[in-house]
Amino acid sequence: MHPAYDDQNIFAKILRGEIPNDTVMESEHTLAFNDIAPQAPVHVLVIPRKPYLDQDDFFAHASAEEIVDFARLVAEICKQKNLSPGAEGSGYRTITNAGKDGIQEVPHYHLHILGGRRLGRMLA
Ligand code: 5GP
Repeated sequence: MHPAYDDQNIFAKILRGEIPNDTVMESEHTLAFNDIAPQAPVHVLVIPRKPYLDQDDFFAHASAEEIVDFARLVAEICKQKNLSPGAEGSGYRTITNAGKDGIQEVPHYHLHILGGRRLGRMLA
């Protein structure tokens, strides 16, 4: 585990079942739930079940199986929510905030999936 990982963070508590969550989809290594303060009609957070601090920690130390499991769940959610560009969906955005400058608030790796409306142009 990363030395800076704090197992009292809110997502660790969600994973342990200590606080409730509005689960969207789950798989062996990954959990996805609705953000408590949605920034768009669809705002889903996707997290690995294991304690990775941030994206760097996840990409560097998760197994290939965990990473593929995570990526496939993201794709399934986008499809299920009719976000994937194509016949039905009209697009979405994924964001990861990392560290102090990235303004990562919860120190357990997570990917935001945002969609359901035309999103604002985002540069910084
Ligand atoms: P970050 O800024 O770390 O990238 O994003 C953290 C996200 O977690 C925020 O969008 C925030 O609304 C969400 N969040 C914080 N606490 C909770 C919680 O207890 N439950 C859920 N579902 N989302 C939370």
